[in-house]
Amino acid sequence: MTTFAKAICIVALLGLAALPATPGSLAYSNDTLFQTSPISALMQGVFDGSMTFGDLSAHGNFGLGTVHALDGEMVELDGQFYQIKSDGIAYHLNNTTKTPFAEATFFSPDETVSLSGTSNLTQLNGYLDSKLNTTNIFYAIRIDGTFDYVKTRSVPVQSKPYPTLSEAVEGQKIFEFHNVTGTIVGFRCPAYISGVNVPGYHMHFLTANRLAGGHLLDFNLKDAIIKVDNLYKFKMDLPKNDEFNLANLSGNHQASLGKVESNPKK
Ligand code: ZN
Repeated sequence: MTTFAKAICIVALLGLAALPATPGSLAYSNDTLFQTSPISALMQGVFDGSMTFGDLSAHGNFGLGTVHALDGEMVELDGQFYQIKSDGIAYHLNNTTKTPFAEATFFSPDETVSLSGTSNLTQLNGYLDSKLNTTNIFYAIRIDGTFDYVKTRSVPVQSKPYPTLSEAVEGQKIFEFHNVTGTIVGFRCPAYISGVNVPGYHMHFLTANRLAGGHLLDFNLKDAIIKVDNLYKFKMDLPKNDEFNLANLSGNHQASLGKVESNPKK
């Protein structure tokens, strides 16, 4: 047993029965990961928004993504959309703003785990992997926690002609938080989703006061409540615009995707 595993105290492991409810209510679970546009299109610079956040809200109350023209990182939490721009501030998004890439689900946890003990992002992902029954389905993961340290990033708004995502991320702004409480909104996708979404973990962060956050790069987590929603269905809407139609999506962008999603090497 690793030191990390010993440090983890599992206080509760609850199987929560799905409650009958309607879309939009917190108890509703559709077990579906919905997304708009494949990640490979975003990699190729398809940054024009194709779906409004109002329409996205019909597919989930919990999600992440980005905003028209790659204007920051998006977090959807409890049905509210937040845009963390490259100034580090979280703004409320209105329903008519569009997104070029986002994913969402109606969050209804199948398991809840309380953790105490410190872990960084890599350790937490390893711990979650060890607890999951399979890595062949999708998961939505909500972590409400207290952190010694959180490192996030956001990306500056782009103008046409749009660069690739790798080029845009070179201008990313890094934010560091100390002794902060907040919520991680994350998804875990299976390896076979490569080209469509991000294989493995993709997490965004929002502070408890809902004023800041970003795409999660690393953290030092102290105490947390982790809720996991098993997702057995997958649905994707494709953009209806020339930018998407004309994009060359035949390549394998996996190597550069890993680079734009992860903590930059110093
Ligand atoms: Zn992200």
